[in-house]
Amino acid sequence: MMREAVALARRWTSLSLDPAGLRALRDKKVRRAVRAAYAGVPYYRELLDGAGVSPESIQGVDDLERIPITSRADLAAAGHARLLRVGTDPKDCLRVHTSGSSGEPLGVYLDRADLALRRALHFRSLLVAGFRRHDRLVHLGQTSNSAATLAHRLGLWPRDYISPLLTVREQVEQLRALQPDVLWSSPTRLRAVLEETSDRLSRICRPRLLITSGERLDEAFADGLRADGALDVFNFYGSVEVGRVAWECRAHAGLHVNADVVHLELLPSEATDAGRPLGETVVTPLEPGAMPLLRYRLGDLSAWESRERCACGSWFPRIRPPVGRRTEVARLPSGAVFAASGFQNVLRGYDSLRRFRVVQLERGRFEVLLVPRRPDARPPLGEIEKSIADFLGEPVRIEVRVVAEITSRGAKYTDFESRVSGAAA
Ligand SMILES: [Zn+2]
Repeated sequence: MMREAVALARRWTSLSLDPAGLRALRDKKVRRAVRAAYAGVPYYRELLDGAGVSPESIQGVDDLERIPITSRADLAAAGHARLLRVGTDPKDCLRVHTSGSSGEPLGVYLDRADLALRRALHFRSLLVAGFRRHDRLVHLGQTSNSAATLAHRLGLWPRDYISPLLTVREQVEQLRALQPDVLWSSPTRLRAVLEETSDRLSRICRPRLLITSGERLDEAFADGLRADGALDVFNFYGSVEVGRVAWECRAHAGLHVNADVVHLELLPSEATDAGRPLGETVVTPLEPGAMPLLRYRLGDLSAWESRERCACGSWFPRIRPPVGRRTEVARLPSGAVFAASGFQNVLRGYDSLRRFRVVQLERGRFEVLLVPRRPDARPPLGEIEKSIADFLGEPVRIEVRVVAEITSRGAKYTDFESRVSGAAA
């Protein structure tokens, strides 16, 4: 407990580092991380040797780009024996795994130091968002997989979990009974609860802070939540493999990258969002534990927001909220590529819709499925078709249909589905 308090205090002070101080800290940590990976991890020793990169030649973050990128598939192929730092006993680690929503689940090993770091960073981002000592934090719909196991070990402050295995009605009852000060939920889970209660969170509970993670939070939905109650909405970004990567502060001007503990790159991609080029997230944790990672491709799409000082005082650079994975894109006949979350921006504007899904059947052919808010509602199909056509900006076939229901697959709604072969390439 004492050690954790010290760990948090140290990370708290690094939030106020100036650019030069942050730079020096990051360069030092990069040198250490690369040397440790080379000396202790067979996979990285082979990778660096194969690329002709000596660990001594990596002097700071700018040199990292000489190291080849590692994908999830590379890690899965390598196997944990070649990924764990020499001397690490898997039995002493907590094993968590990725959701598998984009491929096979990947096992990730965390030792005590990893857990202490994640706990400190988790708490730091909550404090920045305005979490107070006696606040009741409720996680809505934590899945019963490893992420929940991990979260259970992230103890330190009072919090409750509402199981996703409960019916939505039971989840609503629990929320009502718990009355959280701080509510943490994926947008999908929260939306399901709101559908059960006529779209008003305030009829169930009145949290002061809402933290969303795991998916893109669309602005129309966030605006509706803010309008309903005096709650502040925060978007956090992270992954099972590396933990918290970025978080929103009270200035709400993008997501601050945890720059003192992770190096984030946005590699150029062909995808755009509202005309803005998007990059693909690649991360290097700067305080590696049991399973070091160098230039690991998370594959979410985002863009830099600013590297200037934020109104909150921090120099930690900021990104725009990630809009989904690189596999969640629509490729058109012209070669243009759109982040599929753009469809949300178009369709969320229609109040008469409760749910929707866009299915790309072929490069030039889309099907748009709509579930009206009320059975007797008549969504303006022609107008919706035109909005989608305007968004795509080139001639494609669009079929808009009203359906009774759209089934959720797994923990997320999939607002978009591509049936174009090779779409994920
Ligand atoms: Zn800020």
